[in-house]
Amino acid sequence: MAIVRVAVDCPVDALFDYRVAAEPPPAGGFVVVPFGRRRVLGLVLEHAQRATVADHRLRDVERVLAVPPLPADILALIRFAAEYYQCPIGQAAFAGLPTRLGRVREAVTRTSWTYELTPAGLALARDHFPPRAALKRRLLEAFRAKPALDRGDLAAISARASALAEAWIGEGWVARRETPAVEPAGKTSIASARPPVLPTLTDEQRAAVAAIAASLGTFSAWLLEGVTGSGKTEVYFRLIEQVAAAGRQSLLMVPEINLTPQLEARLRERFPALRLASLHSNLAEGERMANWLAARQGRADVVIGTRLSVFTPMPRLGFVVVDEEHDASFKQQEGLRYCARDLAIFLARLRGVPVVLGSATPSLETYHNARTGKFGHLHLARRPAAGRPDIRLLDLRGHTRQAGISDEALRAVEARLARGEQSLVFLNRRGFAPALACGACGWSAACDRCNARLVWHLADAVLRCHYCGHEESLPRRCPVCGNQDLKGLGQGTQRIEQALSQRFAGARILRIDRDSTRRKHAWRAMQDDIRAERVDILVGTQMLAKGHDFPKLTLVVVVDADAALFSVDFRAAERVFQQLMQVAGRAGRDRLPGEVLVQTQFPDHPLYRALVRQDYRSYADELLAERSRAGFPPFVHQAILRAESQSEAAVMRFLAHAASLSGLDGEDVVLYDPVPASVSKVAGHHRGHLLAQSASRAAMQRFLSRWRAALAQGKPARVRWALDVDPLEL
Ligand code: ADP
Ligand code: ZN
Ligand code: ZN
Repeated sequence: MAIVRVAVDCPVDALFDYRVAAEPPPAGGFVVVPFGRRRVLGLVLEHAQRATVADHRLRDVERVLAVPPLPADILALIRFAAEYYQCPIGQAAFAGLPTRLGRVREAVTRTSWTYELTPAGLALARDHFPPRAALKRRLLEAFRAKPALDRGDLAAISARASALAEAWIGEGWVARRETPAVEPAGKTSIASARPPVLPTLTDEQRAAVAAIAASLGTFSAWLLEGVTGSGKTEVYFRLIEQVAAAGRQSLLMVPEINLTPQLEARLRERFPALRLASLHSNLAEGERMANWLAARQGRADVVIGTRLSVFTPMPRLGFVVVDEEHDASFKQQEGLRYCARDLAIFLARLRGVPVVLGSATPSLETYHNARTGKFGHLHLARRPAAGRPDIRLLDLRGHTRQAGISDEALRAVEARLARGEQSLVFLNRRGFAPALACGACGWSAACDRCNARLVWHLADAVLRCHYCGHEESLPRRCPVCGNQDLKGLGQGTQRIEQALSQRFAGARILRIDRDSTRRKHAWRAMQDDIRAERVDILVGTQMLAKGHDFPKLTLVVVVDADAALFSVDFRAAERVFQQLMQVAGRAGRDRLPGEVLVQTQFPDHPLYRALVRQDYRSYADELLAERSRAGFPPFVHQAILRAESQSEAAVMRFLAHAASLSGLDGEDVVLYDPVPASVSKVAGHHRGHLLAQSASRAAMQRFLSRWRAALAQGKPARVRWALDVDPLEL
């Protein structure tokens, strides 16, 4: 009988002990265990000789799943993530796993593994163990006699030998190695299947490929900086090809689920012989499970996925790419609040492989790392297949507008219509008008459950809360003064759509935002319409900004980005620049030259000046200098304690109590006062937070583990709390 210590997907930060019959599954193995009154999926993390609970409370593992165990690197990644992001180990363990695991039938190929002594193990003296430790002595002898022991060998030594071998992995004496039984490594015939014409790499691309290729087989991190269309994907492809030819796997991470099919199609076309597996949360459960297994068993040459794919076990991993590395969707905002880009770097280091972070507008964290030499810095300055779009500012001061669009912008759209080209009118606000207000008394429609205005949706004739989804019908008159003349203030995509259809009768206008794409496959169908030129004018939000490639699109009009210039969020400027460069990248991707018109009341703002020059670097330098002066990330490390409750007082009381528990005393960590969140109430829950900051990551980590332990002691009434390490939002 043996004891296994199991992680279970629950918010308690502990492993749970279970008894298991003769041969325990290895660390990384999956089991079904009774948990309270339920049966749940568990991940074996440790073996123990003795249980930490009393005998009569110790329960049995119900079933050992025939799923191949998580390999040591993924276990290390999970442990690191749990520790670094201050998350219960069970939640961290299950963050990246397909939920189907528990239902996998025995049909799955059983992987086998062998145990070998590590150099440290080989260095152990024969009499390292005292004579009474008979089993240990025998096992060591067995290892010396035969370099690789499989489970049969171990079982022949003793029923407990396999548990002991597992324990020695923890000591660093033994390593577990997968027997390559499952499937042969990747086919290497890709060269023959290659399409006849490949673009000749530009000098910049060639230099980038060469630099990264030279580092294959060792850890290195690279920033590949290049605007949309500069050929970053081509660089990834060349490397993926080399990596696959060497029989190894590549992990290609993208921010958007919507982008995976597109990239997958491109990869398939380019490398018909490569086996691809995509992994994201939109896949059908069975498909996700099958793809995960293909990756795990080394049958997939390339894994394409969103943030959760960083946890994919890949026995032959040789290369990692994080495309659009600046994108906020790499950060998970609940449960294990991890940043997949940062974990990808950790993973690459662990596996001794290169990781490439690609972006036109790198996050300031990454940019800083590249500037200080921590990352290699590669630059693709030109677009090989298209010109640079021309970015111009339209000074809105003193000009007439229709629903927020200036005459000049309208004329530009008109010119595209006349030439049979497409335009994109970009506004990051859906609905008809962001507010409904009474001009007589100043009332405006607000959500009862949130501290937020209701947005007027014309198509459904409702007011809708964008935070909690609450809907109500449009009031006929002002509830305060009875005025019947209520006005929609500001612009949303629906109003722009309406104004454009009035102005350009006959033009085919397509609105693309979360409302219009809610139906399954709607967005796919829309993309087909755009490519087939069944659309003249696109009106859309940031959904459209990312990665899509529409050859006939030659004009982008940015309706309004000014609000972000004066946001209290210190990251707002960085984000706006990133978003505008990205949306600008939609214009003129093919042979036709692109034009980008940015409407603004503040044409002299440094952000817009840099944007017009398409000079992210100088602006990023400026922002970094500012952050350094003001003491913001990446020059300091932040963590936030977030709390929410139906009682506002309870939130503030909890945060005050949390501050008193911090026990800070001459440490290199600063704790700020508790404050309400910027949207202080959502769906009836009041939200507040406490910000901790430190110049030292190590000091921050020490403080956080201590603090979390102290916080976990108390049971705050009716308050939910979580720590968010390296938060992207305050
Ligand atoms: P990015 O990933 O930076 O947006 P891509 O790699 O997708 O850029 O390249 C943009 C377009 O330019 C694609 O159509 C691609 O086929 C083409 N392209 C890339 N590299 C070259 C090159 N060296 N010569 C000609 N065309 C290229
Ligand atoms: Zn009124
Ligand atoms: Zn609401």
